[in-house]
Amino acid sequence: MSSDKLNIAILGAGESGVGAAILALQKGHQVFVSDKGQIKGNYAEELSQLGVPFESGSHDEARILAADLVIKSPGIPDKAPLMQAILAKGIPVIAEIEFAARYTQHFTVGITGSNGKTTTTNLLYHLLATAGLDVVMGGNVGKSFARIVAERDYPYYVLELSSFQLEGIVDYRPNISMILNITPDHLDRYEYQMEKYAAAKFNIVKQQRGSDFFLYNADDEQSGGKREHYPTVVQAVAISANMIEGSLLKVEGYEFDMQTTALMGRHNYMNALFAIKTCLLMGIDPASIQEGLNSFVNAPHRLEKVAEITGVEFINDSKATNVDSVFYALQAMTRPTIWIAGGTDKGNDYSPLFDFVANKVKAIVCMGVDNSKILTAFAGRCETIVETRSAQEAVEQSYKLAQAGDTVLLSPACASFDLFKNYEDRGEQFKAAVRQKLIAVGEN
Ligand code: ADP
Repeated sequence: MSSDKLNIAILGAGESGVGAAILALQKGHQVFVSDKGQIKGNYAEELSQLGVPFESGSHDEARILAADLVIKSPGIPDKAPLMQAILAKGIPVIAEIEFAARYTQHFTVGITGSNGKTTTTNLLYHLLATAGLDVVMGGNVGKSFARIVAERDYPYYVLELSSFQLEGIVDYRPNISMILNITPDHLDRYEYQMEKYAAAKFNIVKQQRGSDFFLYNADDEQSGGKREHYPTVVQAVAISANMIEGSLLKVEGYEFDMQTTALMGRHNYMNALFAIKTCLLMGIDPASIQEGLNSFVNAPHRLEKVAEITGVEFINDSKATNVDSVFYALQAMTRPTIWIAGGTDKGNDYSPLFDFVANKVKAIVCMGVDNSKILTAFAGRCETIVETRSAQEAVEQSYKLAQAGDTVLLSPACASFDLFKNYEDRGEQFKAAVRQKLIAVGEN
């Protein structure tokens, strides 16, 4: 850690930029925050209260180019003209994660991947907290790493890290790192080259040493088979679907039962395997891990069980705004399913879902202003397709179509803006309609 007092320019006044500013100020550096757009939420107020000089709407290039160090928001690409000028001048540019890591010597777990980061971060945090560790979670979810370090230096950190955040890593070295999976996403940022996107994710392991662990997905070609991307000294640990047997997860000779947990589907079992293996590496007792699995509540709107009404189970998966997410949701269904779908279609290709619909879906309940794409895609592939225009109507229709033993799944594959404010509003309205139905039917 350097004790030098630096002149630091922070680009971007979101959670990571403001977190970095708080930590920099606390460590006695000179700070200037610059955001080319409008500063969102309360961040401008927070900076004012702290007495941190900042600008929004433009960049004062001369002032920024006078800095000794630039901390860059994950959202700003290196291609931006200001970044080009900074790099040409040779000013070091780092991510907020890197900056925060310079002020803690404690144990960190870094979690990245294309899908499942938030679920795995939440789960691992919960398992460690259940075991009694003084642990905190943050990074790309909740509070920024820098903000947490400034507030209190915890003995254990569980950090969700996006590939954008990982681009600015220099020396940061998690004690345990993991790449859950790598699938095409954000490819526009990486010149449409999967290799470059994957390389950014592998920054998570670049600085790790012999005492550190790297957990990788052995079933995933992009993250599993790329040994050239990580140091040979690191202890690499394979996680694979062959550790799943029905609802049992088998790790280091221990068995963990997922039937007693709220997590559904193979994709979530994979997330759980990563979290469980990490706990075992950290010396957590298997009985405590199972206890944590049993009491875990996932973030809402992700395959969330709402209620069972006369034997009909209702599940809210409103976060599923694309076909890929619905694929995992339908894969996770074990009972005949009434599938509620629709909204603002972003040019979906529904063909990956055809097999699941043929085998598991009894009826499709469309919930959107314009349902024509779903009607066309599934005509002749599903016996019953009905149209509805509200969450309440969709719940009513689904309940009519269902029998005891069926599941009603809201997993829309579409954005929500035609009928709702956002996916959270859609999920909340669905849950409210289910609860109303529950009361009307007279069960509790
Ligand atoms: P992230 O933080 O990476 O976006 P989340 O945990 O919020 O991930 O999950 C987002 C969506 O990704 C979920 O709705 C789910 O359908 C899907 N998902 C979760 N875990 C996985 C996984 N291991 N593999 C593929 N898809 C997943």
